[in-house]
Amino acid sequence: MNASEIQNYAMLINGKSVQAQNGQTLDVIDPCSGKPFARIPDGGEADVDAAVAAAQAALDGKWGKTPPVERSRILQRWANLILDHFDELSELESRDTGKPITAGRADITATARYFEFYAGAADKLHGHVIPYLDGYSVNVHRVPHGVTGHIIPWNYPAQQYGRTVAAALAVGNAAVVKPSEDACLSTIRISQLGVEAGLPDGALNMITGLGDKAGAALAAHKGINFMSFTGSPRVGTLVQEATAKNFVACTLELGGKSPQLVFEDADFAKALPVVVKAIIQHAGQTCSAGSRLLVQKSVYDEFVGEVAKAFSKVRVGTPDMDLDCGPVMNAKQQALVEGFRKEAIETGIPLLAEGQFADGIDKNGFWVMPSLFGNVPRDHRLACDEVFGPVLSVLPFDDEEDAVRLANATDYGLVGAVWTKDGNRQQRVAKRMNCGQVFINNYGAGGGVELPFGGMKKSGHGREKGFLALEHFTTTKTIVHFHE
Ligand code: NAD
Repeated sequence: MNASEIQNYAMLINGKSVQAQNGQTLDVIDPCSGKPFARIPDGGEADVDAAVAAAQAALDGKWGKTPPVERSRILQRWANLILDHFDELSELESRDTGKPITAGRADITATARYFEFYAGAADKLHGHVIPYLDGYSVNVHRVPHGVTGHIIPWNYPAQQYGRTVAAALAVGNAAVVKPSEDACLSTIRISQLGVEAGLPDGALNMITGLGDKAGAALAAHKGINFMSFTGSPRVGTLVQEATAKNFVACTLELGGKSPQLVFEDADFAKALPVVVKAIIQHAGQTCSAGSRLLVQKSVYDEFVGEVAKAFSKVRVGTPDMDLDCGPVMNAKQQALVEGFRKEAIETGIPLLAEGQFADGIDKNGFWVMPSLFGNVPRDHRLACDEVFGPVLSVLPFDDEEDAVRLANATDYGLVGAVWTKDGNRQQRVAKRMNCGQVFINNYGAGGGVELPFGGMKKSGHGREKGFLALEHFTTTKTIVHFHE
């Protein structure tokens, strides 16, 4: 692609598409070729100041007076506009992140679904009445925080945007969003559609730019009343420190090392494709990727042999080839995943299977070979740390007690799965797993739009998705009325 084909994108502040005040831009790199194909504004502190001021003005003005039913209608129109632009948005999402076009389409379907879900919920979050002393009426109101900050990662930009922004706006907050500098084009387009859907100026603002500049300025901003952060534990800690200085609460949706427990009585035929997809989906760059496969010793060779056969058929290619997965996001991620692979091989961990690169891929893309490692020692980095790439670690366990101990043995606690036909064991094990979601005889990386999602331990705190998210995007105000 030559320079004239590079498309320029803009931020959104106070209902207008704008460039950064300093006039600087950042290149957006195609992960399949390593070459730039778009430019975004390199926003900074001055742009964040303008966005937060616009959000506060919207709350003091038209948006603050918009009743729940009207917020609901705007969100529903927005969902319809996303579906009207389905092909454009799916292609943009796949191009920007490198994922197969089928996955890009699934992401845009889910994104529209967030807007539909929160459109339906906007006028259904009620307060309550408390019976108190004689002569008193006490009402507990659910009120928006005010200006909410939203920092999102590059792996599922459109979906992450829908899940956090639609929920925050549904309950009357005004939002300032900072998507990832690595992949954010779909979120820019969806923000423009929000304006078209009828959002008043300033209700939604988007700043593009670098994490340690635009992101840090947003997290530290005194005008922010609540922060929703999705990304790495390292940056989550920085964001929490910054918001704490302003006495502002935050939701942290961080990483994972999610286990799938396969017992000897599991339905192997059902488990097999799900286990493989849970790590291959978006080349393992899913926070809730099923990246640890724990298999009972008595069936280890049989089941893991089947997984190895399936893994060797996994194909990696460009979005339009539409294979099992694409490249990883950037050179940094590629080096990180390769580091894990190299270390595992050098320390003698058996490499049981690898996938295949499709013919014709550009060697400058950020390709990583899907890899299955068996008998990973329990204390090895590969068994404990998030790789965020298409690398599956398999570990054997003895019995139920050992399986639960092993499942809970990392610092993370995002998602887990139990594969067994024994109904009592299903419940016993699910209740003892320390994570925010447990799947029994299925696995949905990321879960559904309707299902509360979030972590324990290093995977973060707070919940997004589902109706429960609305409690996190509001606070309560108790009004005590004394009357004769
Ligand atoms: P990241 O933490 O590097 O970046 C996330 C966002 O934070 C980006 O928008 C980035 O620009 C911004 N940022 C970076 N430095 C910042 C700073 N100093 N202050 C404020 N903002 C800053 O994460 P990533 O590499 O984009 O995403 C991968 C990580 O995200 C993985 O650990 C993954 O597990 C996690 N993740 C979690 C979930 C979830 O829902 N739990 C979902 C997706 C990804």
